Amino acid sequence: MIPYVIVVEDEAALATLLQYNLEKEGYEVAIASDGEEALLMVSERVPDMMVLDWMLPKLSGIEVCRCLRADKSTPNIPIIMLTARSEEDERVRGLDTGADDYITKPFALSELLARIRAVLRRAKPSLIEESLHCGNLVLDRSTHKVLRHGKEVPLGPTEFRLLEHFMSQPGRVFSRTQLIDAIWGTEVDVEIRTVDVHVGRLRRALNAGHQHDAIRTVRSAGYALRAD
Ligand code: CA
Repeated sequence: MIPYVIVVEDEAALATLLQYNLEKEGYEVAIASDGEEALLMVSERVPDMMVLDWMLPKLSGIEVCRCLRADKSTPNIPIIMLTARSEEDERVRGLDTGADDYITKPFALSELLARIRAVLRRAKPSLIEESLHCGNLVLDRSTHKVLRHGKEVPLGPTEFRLLEHFMSQPGRVFSRTQLIDAIWGTEVDVEIRTVDVHVGRLRRALNAGHQHDAIRTVRSAGYALRAD
């Protein structure tokens, strides 16, 4: 079954980015651009979860959350609330909004995707795929273990997220900038060289004891996972 996610976000560019990336991860996504539209969409079809911006036109994210929690037909929809700055974040956390999790903008996509999986795993375990498979590689999200040809590959947290990102689209070439946005976030100052360092570590860990290079370096373009 494909999890159905409603993203409520009035910033069109961010909404589009989230829709694109969630669909890539295998979710069915609908976008609502204000609080009233969000409630209308939920009344038409109850989603498996919602990503809900706090600052919204018409009804705020908190009001939407409260309406949903008060409505007997929708009390248990898992909700991740997006907040804009840390002070707002503090305020929102102080309020009893009923959200399952909060994430502060700006955030790295991989962080949001991990939170979505965590919230869904708790609420609807049958909907979440725990492991990714590609050729001789297996990545288990619940245990954070990676196997190549059945042998465990020890990875640091950044290398794990890099590999998870590569495995979400085997064979696709990611530029260094795309990898920075996905792993470290768009607002963080990360040097291109840092990407090379972590991909280098990932490559050494994956290739130790194996003949074939699991990662392809594409000159002037970026890196990809070999999809064989
Ligand atoms: Ca907003």
